Amino acid sequence: MELILAKQAGFCFGVKRATQMAFEAADKGGETYTLGPIIHSPQVVARLEEMGVKAIKDVDGVDQGTVIIRSHGVAAGELESVISRCLEVVDATCPFVKKAQEHVASLSAAGYDVVVVGDADHPEVQGIVSYATGKVYVVASGEEAERLPRMAKIGVVAQTTQSFENLKNVVTACLGKGGEIRVYHTICDATAVRQEEAKRLAGQVDCMIVIGGYNSANTKRLAEVCKELLPRTHHIEIAGQLDASWFDGVEKVGITAGASTPKWLIDEVIDRVREIDGEKR
Ligand code: SF4
Repeated sequence: MELILAKQAGFCFGVKRATQMAFEAADKGGETYTLGPIIHSPQVVARLEEMGVKAIKDVDGVDQGTVIIRSHGVAAGELESVISRCLEVVDATCPFVKKAQEHVASLSAAGYDVVVVGDADHPEVQGIVSYATGKVYVVASGEEAERLPRMAKIGVVAQTTQSFENLKNVVTACLGKGGEIRVYHTICDATAVRQEEAKRLAGQVDCMIVIGGYNSANTKRLAEVCKELLPRTHHIEIAGQLDASWFDGVEKVGITAGASTPKWLIDEVIDRVREIDGEKR
């Protein structure tokens, strides 16, 4: 079988950086915590746990040690409570997410009502919203933005994983809502680039393997877009889940992975697919 690995598979810049920071903090030893799972990869979280890093919901009851802030950031109040407890902070918030948080704070300070384009339930959005000191609304689409009240000054910021199309739709709707609009393009293209490449690959192969946490939204989306084009698409977390029968009659296999999937898991899957290929000969 020919095996093709997507060029942009696995860790994006922000996740790579956060994971490195977490492993470096773990190496130093001492009590180390992450506020929520550091990234959406149960295997990375488990490896950190083996090194003594615990994922906690909040810092209540924690009075010493180091707290690592995850790549998608936390709410301003949570960060303050870590700092007020004099705990050491390793802020692994992705710089792109940090920028969105800063824009919200500065828009609020300048008297703008803020519109955040994104999923209100997502922790990244909840973190971004928490930096507003004035009025703030979260809208998922242009249709939702049509229902916003009129505002004198509107500031628009997007969740980093939103599509550019959706941001444009919301901005268009906001044009009819106020006299002055300031828009910040806070979208990161890591997710879109992975999806476009996965689609291209799914069109060239007989079977697609998508690797990543079942709790990772971007991996689930990758698997969905591939499955739409190629029903023989399988979403797995680890190599042990590969089934030899998936490769019956297959000549070309495509492999991709979500932005929170570490390289070691991708390598294990590649090795196992090669092994299965050898067994079939
Ligand atoms: S997807 Fe983009 S914004 Fe999110 S962590 Fe990765 S690089 Fe940062």
